Amino acid sequence: MNDCIFCKIVNGEAKSWKVYEDEHAHAFLDINPVNEFHTLVIPKQHYENIFDITENDLLNVMSVVKKVVTLYNEKLGIKHVQIINSSGSEAQQDVFHIHFHIVPRYNGDNQDIKWITHKEWHEKFNDLLNKLK
Ligand code: AMP
Ligand code: ZN
Repeated sequence: MNDCIFCKIVNGEAKSWKVYEDEHAHAFLDINPVNEFHTLVIPKQHYENIFDITENDLLNVMSVVKKVVTLYNEKLGIKHVQIINSSGSEAQQDVFHIHFHIVPRYNGDNQDIKWITHKEWHEKFNDLLNKLK
């Protein structure tokens, strides 16, 4: 993937602030951090998102997510994080090399993720589940 910025980070053509890497995955600081140590974890191999990544490489990436969170917990005392993946443009994915955000959170950080909820949809849950049959 010649024009993929995250592939360029993996092969050293683009600058990044590396936190951790192993054979399969790479963790680096997000260039537009929403909090200190906002981190991205990516597979070294190019996959667009959750739909095309292999189960094996997804496990490899999640193993590095766990390592980085453990590192932040042990070294920095971080105890609250959000792990976020957006897959697909309509799900607000902007960089099309799959990545998981690790966002440390703390009271008073002025960040917020807000969902609009629809409790009134309980009555159609059975119909929704029937669509899977
Ligand atoms: P998403 O909206 O989930 O696709 O997030 C893409 C993320 O990649 C954003 O948070 C960007 O700040 C981040 N990003 C884009 N380019 C770089 C880069 N060169 N180095 C580090 N992070 C980047
Ligand atoms: Zn890529």
